Amino acid sequence: MTIKDKNKIGIIGAGFGGLTTGALLSKQGFTVEIFEKEKILGGRALSLNGTNLTLDNYKKILSRFSMNIPFSDPPLEEIFNNEMLKGFTIDLGFHSIEGGALSNVGRVLLDAGVKVDMVESKLGFIKENSFYFPLISKKDKLRFLPHILLLVLSGESTMKKLDEVSIADMIKRYGKGKMKLILELLPRVTTTVNNLGKISTGEAFRASQSNLRRGSSPVGYPKKGLISISNALADTIRKNNGKIHLNSYVKQIIIENRKTKGVIVDDKNHFFDIVVYNGLVQNLFQIVDEKYFQSSYVAHLKSLYGTGSLCAYYSLEKVKPELFGKSFLFIERDAGVDGKDAVGMIEFVTAVPESGLAPKSNYLVQSYIICTPSEAKSKETLQGLRVMLDKNLEYLLPNYHSFLNWAIYPAVWHLDGVAKTIDNIKPEIQTPIEGLYLVGDGVHSPGIGVNCAVNSASQLVELLTKK
Ligand SMILES: Cc1cc2nc3c(=O)[nH]c(=O)nc-3n(C[C@H](O)[C@H](O)[C@H](O)COP(=O)(O)OP(=O)(O)OC[C@H]3O[C@@H](n4cnc5c(N)ncnc54)[C@H](O)[C@@H]3O)c2cc1C
Repeated sequence: MTIKDKNKIGIIGAGFGGLTTGALLSKQGFTVEIFEKEKILGGRALSLNGTNLTLDNYKKILSRFSMNIPFSDPPLEEIFNNEMLKGFTIDLGFHSIEGGALSNVGRVLLDAGVKVDMVESKLGFIKENSFYFPLISKKDKLRFLPHILLLVLSGESTMKKLDEVSIADMIKRYGKGKMKLILELLPRVTTTVNNLGKISTGEAFRASQSNLRRGSSPVGYPKKGLISISNALADTIRKNNGKIHLNSYVKQIIIENRKTKGVIVDDKNHFFDIVVYNGLVQNLFQIVDEKYFQSSYVAHLKSLYGTGSLCAYYSLEKVKPELFGKSFLFIERDAGVDGKDAVGMIEFVTAVPESGLAPKSNYLVQSYIICTPSEAKSKETLQGLRVMLDKNLEYLLPNYHSFLNWAIYPAVWHLDGVAKTIDNIKPEIQTPIEGLYLVGDGVHSPGIGVNCAVNSASQLVELLTKK
């Protein structure tokens, strides 16, 4: 097949993976059409306008993205009846690790011709009753320099060898002093998995490698929220004559003679040379007949699990100026979760006025603590995690309750599409069926979450344009 033969691309889903694929391919002259089942762009990188949001809509949309709100302060009804979210952009889905301007996301967006302004921050660490910043001091950097250089310069063959080594094993071998703390914290935040015995060293290092190489800030947040990224990608697609259909559920992927022919939307057939699926890989067989695939492939995709979290969004009347634009990690020992200890993060990158997420004189602080998908469905576990989130905010902002406007705690049991763990291997972009590809955070591509989603799009484009 030449490029000309595969000009018409149908994309299922307008998450970051689908939109990035659409922007990159339409820029290269492919004819792109995206079908998104929701009325909004962005998928799990949700941006909701607090001014128009109703409680009913909020609950409905969250439930469609594997989320609910187990707690809030005051009760949600009171928050909505008193219009307390007016002027806020409520983002769910990108807090946003490894997302600085020079990160994978930043680079792929530039490739797609999209410029999004980011607020960036570096990491600090919360310890009982206090905190320190930065997490890695100049002295640490000098001490770690040989290890960091080794990591940055390691080739893919070294990373592959490390794929089967768990971080727990790495800590046994190399984890002393501050290095131990770093190895306990960073792989957990970059994978959203607490159990160090399950995190693959190769995957965790690979996630940070390219960002370290470019010197990107550890945390980046798009100004005015995630919707800025989705809108900018959608603008690029439309500018390049691509089409995006919202509210358009793809009921079926059409396959004939083991080749992909198109999709069915609202009982109408749409024919394409290539179909790209951006939904959760576990759900692929809801819209394509299993009979076309080997049973081991079907069983593998269906068996994959994602990651979970309890998040907290705090609206505060004041924030200590020294915390502005900083992000803090914490570790809770014996937290009653898989892997025993739980890592979380509280970020003030969203509290800086330039983030544009909160109305005047309000400061939005976002946080999360990692758990497994099943823990994210257990109210009892979540109750304990909520106490940990609040306690750590209290260390940073003593007596914060006296200047809290509201707090909302969403729980998510499908944060990352497929957890990057040793026992949970992501499928490749190319499926066994000709002309059917997968993109998003559930496929085999560097990084997790948003980085994996945009990197998979870039890899697909490389694959399609190389042949
Ligand atoms: C609370 C929370 C916090 C997070 N924090 C971070 C973070 O700090 N850093 C980070 O990197 N990542 C984070 N993530 C993960 C990040 O949001 C996701 O990795 C990323 O948005 C996934 O993008 P995607 O394109 O792979 O999939 P999605 O965003 O899930 O997009 C898939 C789209 O496909 C659509 N779709 C599915 N099936 C069909 C169909 N049959 N027809 C039409 N449309 C369909 C869906 O509606 C959806 O819009 C977080 C996620 C959540 C929920």
